[in-house]
Amino acid sequence: MTVTTKPATLAAATALAAAFKDAPVRAPAVSFEFFPPRTEDMERVLWESVTRLAPLAPSFVSVTYGAGGSTRERTHATIARILTETALTPAAHLTCVDATRAEVDEVIARYHEAGVRHIVALRGDPAAGLGAAYAPHPQGYRNAADLVAGIRRQYPDIEITVSAYPEKHPESATVEADIDMLKAKVDAGASRAITQFCFDNDLYFRYLDRVRARGITIPVVPGLLPVQNFKQASTFAERAGASVPGWFARKFDGLDDDPTTRKLIAATVVAEQALDLRARGVDTFHFYTMNRADLVFAICHLLGVRPAHPHEAA
Ligand SMILES: Cc1cc2nc3c(=O)[nH]c(=O)nc-3n(C[C@H](O)[C@H](O)[C@H](O)COP(=O)(O)OP(=O)(O)OC[C@H]3O[C@@H](n4cnc5c(N)ncnc54)[C@H](O)[C@@H]3O)c2cc1C
Repeated sequence: MTVTTKPATLAAATALAAAFKDAPVRAPAVSFEFFPPRTEDMERVLWESVTRLAPLAPSFVSVTYGAGGSTRERTHATIARILTETALTPAAHLTCVDATRAEVDEVIARYHEAGVRHIVALRGDPAAGLGAAYAPHPQGYRNAADLVAGIRRQYPDIEITVSAYPEKHPESATVEADIDMLKAKVDAGASRAITQFCFDNDLYFRYLDRVRARGITIPVVPGLLPVQNFKQASTFAERAGASVPGWFARKFDGLDDDPTTRKLIAATVVAEQALDLRARGVDTFHFYTMNRADLVFAICHLLGVRPAHPHEAA
């Protein structure tokens, strides 16, 4: 876990926030990410969350794909239920890990047949676990760019979203090498990127400047992780190669035995992050919901995202 200090950009952020205060208020676009449930209880929690968030009219809701295709059937079942039981637009995550091209193509064909027109195309983590070297399947797609090209070749009508890493992917030697991969994915047909979560907005904006300088013009949507507690956030960050700023860690100092205060602080932290992004001009947000609606719903409310028909809100 890397601990950094917050750069002094408060004055700039405050000036922008003041400018934004008088601008016409337009709610940002949002999307929500869920993971496929493993048990009946988790299934119930997921659908309560989907039902609670649906009236916010997200641009799409995405469903993750477990390591090595371990959730292939559950991801498909969740996507199918979203298609048949809601008016939401689903996006199916898909990885290349441990699968031949033919196997991956079959998954894409099933999605297309079911009516899915949006895929979040990823390479995935090494089958041997994080830290191990990634080895593509000998007959498989080599990486996310190769997968994007494969989808685009077969289905011109499928929208393709890819990953982006403001603090670089742990396997990338440099941020520039990382942006090379993003460029390859865009050249292959991706039309949107969602970032790995990142707790320091300045890192996101610095990364965005470098991405734009490379001539990449697609939306690079910040992915927000509404963490419920600091320990969980630190674990996720360590796995994802994201840093935990010193000021972020300090907000949770001394709260190890006080879960109620910890939860309130966590809510404040992510609300501050979202409002700062908005004040600095971000108009599209992706939420890693962890299948929980309450905090995401509250932050959307703060951002001005309200139910399309208030009476539908649970
Ligand atoms: C928005 C989002 C959604 C995700 N959803 C899922 C999911 O549903 N299921 C899941 O299992 N994982 C998911 N992940 C995690 C993702 O699978 C891992 O981060 C994985 O390690 C990389 O996949 P990728 O598509 O980002 O890879 P790529 O875009 O192919 O590569 C990522 C980076 O790694 C570097 N790289 C790749 N190959 C090499 C190499 N051979 N040598 C040096 N550098 C290399 C590149 O510089 C590149 O920038 C998600 C991540 C994000 C940000």
